[in-house]
Amino acid sequence: MKAAFSKTTEAEDTHAMNYEEFHRWSIDDPEGFWGEQAQLIHWNKPPQKVRDYSNPPFCKWFVGGETNLCYNAVDRHLADRADQNALIYISTETDETVVYSYAELYREVNRFAAVLQSLGVGKGDRVIIYMPMIAEALFSILACARIGAIHSVVFGGFAAYNLAVRIDDAKPKVMVTSDAGMRGGKAVPYKHLVDESCNLAKFPPEKVVICNRGLDKGLTLVEGRDLDYATLRAQHMDAEVPVVWLESNEPSYILYTSGTTGIPKGVQRDVGGYAVALASTMKHLYHINPGETMFATSDIGWVVGHSYIVYAPLINGSPTIFYEGLPIRPDPGIWWKIVNEYQVRTMFSSPTAVRVLKSQDQKYMTEHDVSCLRYLFLAGEPLDEPTSRWISDALKIPVIDHYWQTETGWPMLSYLPGVDLKPNRFGSPGFPVYGYNIRVIDEGTGAEVPRGEKGVLVVEPPLPPGCLSTVWGDDKRFVQSYFSSFKDLLYTSSDWAVRDEDGYFFILGRTDDVINVAGHRLGTREIEEAIQSHSAVAEVAVIGVADKVKGQVPVGFCRLKDPSQLDAAGATEKMEKEIIAKVQELLGAVAKPHNIHFVSALPKTRSGKLLRRSIQALAEGRDPGDLSTLDDPNSLEEVRRAIGQH
Ligand code: AMP
Repeated sequence: MKAAFSKTTEAEDTHAMNYEEFHRWSIDDPEGFWGEQAQLIHWNKPPQKVRDYSNPPFCKWFVGGETNLCYNAVDRHLADRADQNALIYISTETDETVVYSYAELYREVNRFAAVLQSLGVGKGDRVIIYMPMIAEALFSILACARIGAIHSVVFGGFAAYNLAVRIDDAKPKVMVTSDAGMRGGKAVPYKHLVDESCNLAKFPPEKVVICNRGLDKGLTLVEGRDLDYATLRAQHMDAEVPVVWLESNEPSYILYTSGTTGIPKGVQRDVGGYAVALASTMKHLYHINPGETMFATSDIGWVVGHSYIVYAPLINGSPTIFYEGLPIRPDPGIWWKIVNEYQVRTMFSSPTAVRVLKSQDQKYMTEHDVSCLRYLFLAGEPLDEPTSRWISDALKIPVIDHYWQTETGWPMLSYLPGVDLKPNRFGSPGFPVYGYNIRVIDEGTGAEVPRGEKGVLVVEPPLPPGCLSTVWGDDKRFVQSYFSSFKDLLYTSSDWAVRDEDGYFFILGRTDDVINVAGHRLGTREIEEAIQSHSAVAEVAVIGVADKVKGQVPVGFCRLKDPSQLDAAGATEKMEKEIIAKVQELLGAVAKPHNIHFVSALPKTRSGKLLRRSIQALAEGRDPGDLSTLDDPNSLEEVRRAIGQH
């Protein structure tokens, strides 16, 4: 594997310690290490103790310290950067751009906080935020933080049933929503889903605040429950809402993530540990100075949105781009136009988004001067080598694959440009991030596996600051889901990993997506990578399908860059053979797909994750299961059609 980074670190970036020393310091002396990181944020009352691990696996960070996420994200910057950009809201759906300075952001957040208080929301109350990517979503998040309310953002693409399940778990006092989202130029009404979820839920909110964008002409309000935000805001234009100081370990938010049982787990985050962890990553990992712009292309409904659209950039004093729209509208150069216009330094996106851009006309990659951009970070799913190489060459900057989970709230594996940027290895998200004592262990014995061998990626507790403190309302589930897989008390990531001779980690997919072929364990990701290396393939999903003889056999679902390649007689069979041969060539006969289906779209969640389980269920003639996060319903039909045809 060759180094992909075309720029070397500059002198100003060098840190007094190298990566190994820095990481070791965080593990051997957590009190000293995190005590120093804690200086990066404002404390109303300093912590008395850096950590309390007297009740494993629960860990308290910065015990006795009092702080507030909103104060750190907004108020703290008023002295030095009141007139500087804080929030750059861009919607290519409504063709709107609004730039808020820190002073303006302060005003809007205070107004929203006053509105919530007027509805009886106070410290510890839950507020569900079911919103599209509009500025009020960010105001409401920070408003909750300001008054000590616990926000729970539910992704705007979820349907009524999912929303109801989350409502019943969080039992919110108030819900904040909008009349509609926008996608691909079309309004996607929300309000009927909100009404339906409130009917389905046992514990519906008392009040629903609606940020009306005027997109749903048929919008009707439920009397006594629904309130128009613009009207409420007008009553609180000059509001100054005092910050509610919270003990570091009090909950700041709940973010639901899918569990193996189908009932979502409410990842509960603290206040002080989260603020410190995020602030530290801006310095050491994303390597961005106060005043420099960050652009994370995610959605506030996901953890990346919470951490790297809302909290971390603002805590750092960095303007954040808040983007509503697709990467290819009005044209595939839109992101680079934004990068140029707002002089973005650090960008964060997903491999899927890059693959979308890769299949567009290449001229869009060079239309805008993006020399201001220093790094592109990618996460959320495996980054295959061709995609990584392509974007790295196109942008001529380091493309950094990094790995983390909703549970951790910030990266677990990465390269650390702010400390010591190691040479990239394609396909590897790098090394354990400071604070994480990561091991790769044998699934059965729990013993550490030798370098080069596959095992489960685990973290030796306590988890560092900012990771989930528990599962909302269910300490037992926290212990059972994350700390009960092995005889030793270890946090399981549920991901397969391998560490090479030089210490680089590689993620091989979920432990729950494993394929067992004739007793050999294979990660779907490995086979996908092999298939992806065939030049005709744009995208692929590999699943294990039950087989009488071998237990399971791998089956591939491929989208070709140019589907017309299959038009000629016999072309499909020829392509299938070629792809199977490629896998055999790269991974050996054991990994050879049983067959390859060609589809024009793959079923994915809105966040770009392949719905392998649903594909697998269809391939085995079962019900595809929970499809609430499915992005494109046609993709499922495509899979059905392909299976039927074969
Ligand atoms: P989520 O909590 O939805 O963000 O999903 C986290 C999961 O996404 C991880 O457990 C991994 O399976 C996968 N993931 C995240 N980042 C990466 C990455 N850089 N490479 C491979 N898989 C990743």
